[in-house]
Amino acid sequence: MTFKLKQTKEQREEQCTHPNLEYDRLKKGPEESRRGKKQTKIAQANKSINRNLNVATREIRRMPSRVSRAAYYLGKARATMTDIAGDEFEEKVSTETNAKWTTIKFNCPDCGMSGEIDVVTDQGVVKECKVGTIGGLVSQFKKISRVAPLILGGSPTVHVAVPSGNGGAVRRAFRQAGSPLPSNAIQEH
Ligand SMILES: [Zn+2]
Repeated sequence: MTFKLKQTKEQREEQCTHPNLEYDRLKKGPEESRRGKKQTKIAQANKSINRNLNVATREIRRMPSRVSRAAYYLGKARATMTDIAGDEFEEKVSTETNAKWTTIKFNCPDCGMSGEIDVVTDQGVVKECKVGTIGGLVSQFKKISRVAPLILGGSPTVHVAVPSGNGGAVRRAFRQAGSPLPSNAIQEH
């Protein structure tokens, strides 16, 4: 009787060479369309945030006893801020690094691996952008590092980009995972 150990998703992805990898086109037109979509999404989110903040302010000015109603709208505004934080940060990194490509989605039909390269700078450096909790960042970084050469060719450098003040926590997370990064591989934006 043969007995095959079940592989984890990560092991399966690590063993696959992704020979049929599918990814967004690296051409001017599709890139402009990706950026346009992201900017529209950010603009709509900001409109919604402002609307909810205005309602909250109005409620509490009209009647202090409406504080719980105001809190409801503040909560809605806050949830949208959290949702859009990743996109806004990617946009910031993309502007600051004069990005050549952004938001390249990829998918391997053989092992099921999928993800996104956030930003490729004008120097060809890949920026894995991370806001909020850093859980899962180390394996995400490894995945992007394996996929980047297949999509961009050569052996691109991969950096982690985090909001200023978050570099230390990221450095610790990589050290604790046994894969410390050189200090210039973690950049604050
Ligand atoms: Zn694969």
